[in-house]
Amino acid sequence: MRQKIVAGNWKMNTTPAEGEALAKAVVAASSEVKDVTLILGVPFTHLCPVSKAIAGSQVKLAAQDCSAHDKGAYTGEVAASMIAPFGAQYVILGHSERREYHGENSAVLNEKMKQAYANGLAPIYCVGEKLEERESGKHFDVVTKQIEEVVFNLSDDQFDKLVVAYEPVWAIGTGKTATADQAQEIHAHIRKVLASKFGAKAENTPILYGGSCKPSNAAEIFSKADVDGGLIGGAALKAEDFIAIAKAF
Ligand code: PEP
Repeated sequence: MRQKIVAGNWKMNTTPAEGEALAKAVVAASSEVKDVTLILGVPFTHLCPVSKAIAGSQVKLAAQDCSAHDKGAYTGEVAASMIAPFGAQYVILGHSERREYHGENSAVLNEKMKQAYANGLAPIYCVGEKLEERESGKHFDVVTKQIEEVVFNLSDDQFDKLVVAYEPVWAIGTGKTATADQAQEIHAHIRKVLASKFGAKAENTPILYGGSCKPSNAAEIFSKADVDGGLIGGAALKAEDFIAIAKAF
């Protein structure tokens, strides 16, 4: 059976103290969640307090990005080797906001993937099309390219640890959600593309949906065969909503 995952992407929200309180509230309610891996994707500044807040619980820690470099003169960047010591097990890579505002392309993301794996971080690799790409029917091609150019460079062992998140850019933070059928259609496509390179192993890859997922729509989206959970933005900032989503399977 594939791992079910509900991962929060806090983005640039909460002070460290607020983040610590949010993590504690998630931990407190996490006993209500069974058989779902809960992950908190926090700002770099929150890795330390949140790692302490979740210690000994079932809640796992992720960073929202890492540098493409291992160390050196890269002012303002944070290396994967600086993230892992806080007990982080995951790193979100290729989020559409990074692609859009920081010009991250496949070349950069290949380097970030190498850094993540070299430091024991499992990537949550984000793919997804923009509105005009969906409207012109290019969404399958867009995600295929995002996968071929990055995921196809992984070794079999690396692929075993990969999590994919499908996040249609038009649904992120907009209140618009892909329908459950739209999500299933493209998740099945993603799995087929993964299988074309990695064979039957693709059956084990968690593929998360992201884009205005909330307690009221999670159950329908998660009911689909190839949807293995969610990457949650806005709704991850309230512990009760985040936990309600995780209970929606
Ligand atoms: C995200 O940015 O990863 C996301 C899914 O955001 P939201 O849930 O707010 O649409």
